[in-house]
Amino acid sequence: MKGSTHAIIGANTVWILAIFSGFSWNPFLLLAGALGGLLPDLDASDSKIKHLEIGYGKGKRRVAFKPFYLISWIVSSVFKHRGAFHSILAVILMGWGSFFLFLFLSQWIEFLRHEFWLVLTLGYASHLIADGMTHHGIPLLWPWKGRFHFLPKHFRIKTGAVTERILYVVLLLTLALFVMNSYYFISS
Ligand SMILES: [Zn+2]
Repeated sequence: MKGSTHAIIGANTVWILAIFSGFSWNPFLLLAGALGGLLPDLDASDSKIKHLEIGYGKGKRRVAFKPFYLISWIVSSVFKHRGAFHSILAVILMGWGSFFLFLFLSQWIEFLRHEFWLVLTLGYASHLIADGMTHHGIPLLWPWKGRFHFLPKHFRIKTGAVTERILYVVLLLTLALFVMNSYYFISS
């Protein structure tokens, strides 16, 4: 699946969590969900997360950097694409690591105490579910190499195919509805 689809799926985990746990969301959590949705592809030699750019300005005046470039370069040289980073073990480590990281950071930035680690982890897990719906499948129980598929053979999604584009649009609309709905309730 494309990076943009993974990002939108990851962002959608925020409203699922909001409905089931009743926590109050904010736009930064949508970004965390989208980021979580991109992280497993740090293991790819070329991915959205590797080339994710933070910067400003245009043309020659543009100042930008790619915060995940180096880590992705290292990870993708050591690990196989859609290997260890696409497993349950990776989700557990992600949850554990991000929980403590955000707890540590929240000493200075109180705001980070909340659901960031959870949304990041759910976003990460959503990536695995999405990749599990493609033809390639995922090694969910890595280091065991068996690949898992969450859809029957004929329903599996091909990267960039029309099914993926429909999924993207539907999820974009769902997210927009969630955001609009939240603001409506806040203002009424
Ligand atoms: Zn992937």
